[in-house]
Amino acid sequence: EPQVARDDVIKGTDDDAIISKLSAVNLGYLDDSFVKHFVKRPSRRPPLINRGSYIRTRSLDAFTEQFIKSNIPPEPTAATTTTTPHTSAIIQSSSTPTTKTTAISPIPAAGIKKQIVSLGCGSDTRYFKFKAKGLSALKYFEIDFPESTAKKAVVIKKNKAFTDIIGDPDLKLGMGGTELYSNDYCLLSGDLREFTESIVPKLKAHGFDTSLPTLFLSECVLIYIQPGDSDAIVNWVGTNMDASLFVVYEQINPADAFGAMMLRNLKARRIELPGIHAYPSLKSQEERFTSRGWQAAGAVNMNKLHESLSEQELKRISSLEIFDEVEEWQLLADHYCVAWAYQAKPQQSETYRAQ
Ligand code: SAM
Repeated sequence: EPQVARDDVIKGTDDDAIISKLSAVNLGYLDDSFVKHFVKRPSRRPPLINRGSYIRTRSLDAFTEQFIKSNIPPEPTAATTTTTPHTSAIIQSSSTPTTKTTAISPIPAAGIKKQIVSLGCGSDTRYFKFKAKGLSALKYFEIDFPESTAKKAVVIKKNKAFTDIIGDPDLKLGMGGTELYSNDYCLLSGDLREFTESIVPKLKAHGFDTSLPTLFLSECVLIYIQPGDSDAIVNWVGTNMDASLFVVYEQINPADAFGAMMLRNLKARRIELPGIHAYPSLKSQEERFTSRGWQAAGAVNMNKLHESLSEQELKRISSLEIFDEVEEWQLLADHYCVAWAYQAKPQQSETYRAQ
């Protein structure tokens, strides 16, 4: 199968993600007034999918919020530091709660400049949702294929709901309408398989600073990239950034019976993924980082994330729609995980602590 056709299928996975997200928003699982602008034909998804979209968004939101509010890099010995309630719930429920947790000091650090980079952003709305709540980084970069960013750029540029949040009168389109530049938000186009050669120079040309604490988000993206190429990203970030937190959300365990069934289902929905590259286990997700020199890493599956919800929140989402596919849910949830890792160069810890 030619690579171009394969890439088209991969670009199409974002349509599915954003329709599912809107379904979860419309039912009350998630609160996000920006998602609707990216969906032409809304469609209600089954409870199983709604719950999955909810957990996925909520867990990456928790990491993002913690990153923005916290003082990083974490002190290497601060494994027992308390964190914000939600993320700490996620982290404490880790199947490997060793000293290698992603403990980050909860001290609000308004003065610290930070960056966020969303790899394979698709139609994700996190930058807008967070800034609308008063939570922002110095710079938020989003990267996707040019066809995807062009569509996103049009929606953003023509819509006051978005331009008001960006709040920069000099908001500019570039690269034939595939990119957007503003003070704190940059939508960039490119191929993540050429991260070191083309994405990094492009980021730097738009103010990306390797000395700033940076959160890298990859939500259902690296799985579509050959391991050699995704490892190159993890490696580059781990080696070149002074301090970074990397958070991945994606499928795991493709080889067991249910994993194989999931792949068949995707195929039946004409989502063909000849190039899906899922890691076989939570442990291997951690090792994708620790084997490349990251200081600490952890991974939990979606069942653990679900269990970490408070009773009150569980009650709230249970009232939204009938949900009786409990067994199917547990199987599905075993096949999605959040993995995270951080690294900070030793001399940087001093600098940030001093701020
Ligand atoms: N992260 C978004 C979210 O969770 O809503 C979108 C997820 S979507 C399933 C996967 C995204 O990764 C698509 O937008 C696709 O275009 C992008 N992607 C996959 N491979 C890529 C590559 N090699 N370069 C750039 N973007 C890529």
